[in-house]
Amino acid sequence: RMEGLSKASQAYAARRDEPAVTADGVPMELSMNAGLLIELPRLEETGAAGVGLFRTEFQFMISHTLPRVSAQIEMYRAVLKAAGGKPVVFRTLDLGGDKVTRFIPELREPNPALGWRALRMGLDRPALTRYQLRALVRASAGQVLKVLFPMVADIGELQRARDLLHTELELARRHGHGVPERVETGLMIETPAVAFAPEPFLDLCDFAAVGANDLMQYFFAADRQNPQVAQRYDVLNPAPLALLKSVREACDAAGKPVSVCGEMAGRPLEACVLAGLGYRRLSMSAGSVGPVKAALAECDAGRLGTWLAGEMATKRPDTDKSLRQKLIGAAQ
Ligand code: PEP
Ligand code: MG
Repeated sequence: RMEGLSKASQAYAARRDEPAVTADGVPMELSMNAGLLIELPRLEETGAAGVGLFRTEFQFMISHTLPRVSAQIEMYRAVLKAAGGKPVVFRTLDLGGDKVTRFIPELREPNPALGWRALRMGLDRPALTRYQLRALVRASAGQVLKVLFPMVADIGELQRARDLLHTELELARRHGHGVPERVETGLMIETPAVAFAPEPFLDLCDFAAVGANDLMQYFFAADRQNPQVAQRYDVLNPAPLALLKSVREACDAAGKPVSVCGEMAGRPLEACVLAGLGYRRLSMSAGSVGPVKAALAECDAGRLGTWLAGEMATKRPDTDKSLRQKLIGAAQ
């Protein structure tokens, strides 16, 4: 089966069944991001712990019409079945921003990253959200349902999203449908409004996921879709790292498991830095699981964390050398 794979891929494949652990023995949980059913076999291939982020909007983006509740149920059931008992975190619709559909033309806005996207749209169109939650509840009968709410910026949004979920659970019970064995609600931490004061939001949730793509887009005020600015700023800088660290500390203090699921979690150097900041759960595209596992195995997370704390304490990027250059130097 390994024939035809590059040397590097063979090495990653050989690690598939090994646990992810840093050089200093810190266990890490690596999950994969997915958005389509056809990606699910990668769970087995990569040995990922589960689907840390299932982007449900893809089904809506590729459809010409609004997917019916029955089609949504079918899709979510198939995803859970294909996951074979590994946990799957379903994120509610994150349409808007860069993700547009034909049937909601209002999503084409002049400033979409700051616009009517994700939960904002989902709460203004509660029927849309309720149908989706209904489908998730029905598809997860007898199993654990993990629902993640994207683009929360205000506590009222999270409360209303949770209310819709509870309404659908009640409805399913009243109609005699099977309900999930347990429901866990998750908070995406991807707006500065939440990242700088996550505590009240965490009180309302069972787990959290840092959407580093959006959080860093808003942190640097740089549109992630605009090639002229998207790569302009380095996440490996004291200020954004200090924010990521404080988010992790707040989640730990609240006793809520937290993962990082933006692209940075799938880049080996950044993944090591996240481990150094105290993150123990990362979710990434399937192809990154092997490379990240290999990098973590070489990384002394404790020592890196101490070194990063020193860098962050300076509160200013080194003028001669970026943190990235220093990290690469230190790793060699
Ligand atoms: C993120 O914002 O980091 C994230 C994981 O979600 P998306 O890329 O779908 O916005
Ligand atoms: Mg996001």
